[in-house]
Amino acid sequence: MAYDFDLYVIGAGSGGVRSARFAAGFGAKVAVAESRYLGGTCVNVGCVPKKLLVYGAHFAEDFEQSAGFGWSLGEADFDWARLIANKDREINRLNGIYRNLLVNSGVTLHEGHARLIDPHQVEVNGQRYSAKHILIATGGWPQIPDIPGREHAISSNEAFFLKELPKRILVVGGGYIAVEFAGIFHGLGADTKLLYRGELFLRGFDGAVRKHLQEELTKRGLDLQFNADIERIEKQADGSLKVTLKDGRELATDCVFYATGRRPMLDNLGLENTGVKLDKRGFIEVDEQYQSAEPSILAIGDVIGRVQLTPVALAEGMAVARRLFKPEQYRPVDYNMIPTAVFSLPNIGTVGLTEEQAREAGHKVQIFESRFRPMKLTLTECQERTLMKLVVDADTDKVLGCHMVGPDAGEIVQGLAIALKAGATKRDFDETIGVHPTAAEEFVTMRTPVAG
Ligand code: FAD
Ligand code: NDP
Repeated sequence: MAYDFDLYVIGAGSGGVRSARFAAGFGAKVAVAESRYLGGTCVNVGCVPKKLLVYGAHFAEDFEQSAGFGWSLGEADFDWARLIANKDREINRLNGIYRNLLVNSGVTLHEGHARLIDPHQVEVNGQRYSAKHILIATGGWPQIPDIPGREHAISSNEAFFLKELPKRILVVGGGYIAVEFAGIFHGLGADTKLLYRGELFLRGFDGAVRKHLQEELTKRGLDLQFNADIERIEKQADGSLKVTLKDGRELATDCVFYATGRRPMLDNLGLENTGVKLDKRGFIEVDEQYQSAEPSILAIGDVIGRVQLTPVALAEGMAVARRLFKPEQYRPVDYNMIPTAVFSLPNIGTVGLTEEQAREAGHKVQIFESRFRPMKLTLTECQERTLMKLVVDADTDKVLGCHMVGPDAGEIVQGLAIALKAGATKRDFDETIGVHPTAAEEFVTMRTPVAG
């Protein structure tokens, strides 16, 4: 049978664009449908605008610390509307770049919502298109628990477009988004509380990292409330919000921001017209080659709920394009040693196993840990400390994990990830000459394991 396209991609986000461009580059006839914004979550309401806001928030401490270096500044004044307008302009520019990337690589772009009609047909804007393969790359969507008053709460989608910086804000959740946005709002001057339902935020990260970040954020005056969960939210006559916690406490705020995870975006996708199956958590179930239960339909990225990170969606998109149209170049995605950063202030950077995971996996571990005051702060009043930690297998000397809390941790951990992926031992770290004076050199100068 002749199809309109070799590959029809639903969703022009991180994974979809990567797959479409490379498939077209390999000679396939490709179309992409996008219902909302080119570049997807990462470009529009994720990584990129988030990082710009983190940069914005960081200036507060730069101004304060500059005094120690001899600078005298006038009173700092912050204009949220200007930051958001400039951010929007940059995102518009990126949207244009994504459009050009697709069009210049020969991909046909359909701007509209795509719905599956059957295993080989998609409908967009009333038109039907057939394809040999269909790739679902529709991403995710914020998930807010169903509590009374949830309509008064916002998610990250709205946070990027608030008209004004709230005077008081409650951020709910203990994952990446909650921690990053609590830092953004606090840094920009909002009276910020972070509410997390468990004992300590960032479940799954190394215990020392979680504790260290808790201490650093507390030092900065961020109000961290653990073992706290919201029962209901009520709007008051003056427009403020009354938040009642499950333990009966009441809090007054101007904005409640939920960052409690993301569900797969499957709305009106027409999955019922196909044999695609979902896993227990509701994400699209795929095999190791991203094929769903329906042989012509594949899925990648956040919608399969494996690792919800842009570089992972990119790698999966590339793997699909290669497998379908350039099989001789196909390599499976390696999910080991995925480095990641939390762009809190200070950053977390991490790659490999946490101490807890290493012990659980049966490794006899040696731990190297260093805590120090970054050199940049020695002329300032700031008492912030950096944490660096190496988890080493005592039998093989292999470095199993690197963890850091401190300035530029995300930047530093990228290089370490290559070393770990190449199987570096602690001896390799020790024999590597440091770059002086940097914070990063500490990773190659830790000599004495901590007792334990
Ligand atoms: P997406 O990028 O979400 O793209 C899906 C696209 O499909 C969207 O454009 C959507 O409009 C479109 N779509 C959905 N349904 C349809 C339909 N039926 N028809 C047509 N189009 C449709 N990751 C990092 O690695 N680093 C970070 O710093 C980082 N920060 C983040 C910050 C926030 C606030 C959030 C929310 C996420 C962040 N992420 C970060 C995660 C990252 O954004 C995602 O992992 C990544 O975007 C997933 O890519 P994707 O291709 O699966 O989906
Ligand atoms: P996460 O899964 O990281 O965290 C969700 C948080 O919400 C957890 O602390 C969880 O608690 C809590 N939670 C879940 N359900 C409820 C509930 N019903 N009531 C109260 N708390 C609840 O999700 P995020 O929304 O922060 O981010 C989504 C994903 O996007 C991340 O996992 C990450 O993959 C990606 N991302 C990556 C970033 C980066 O690379 N820097 C930045 C932002 C997002 P508990 O731990 O107890 O389950």
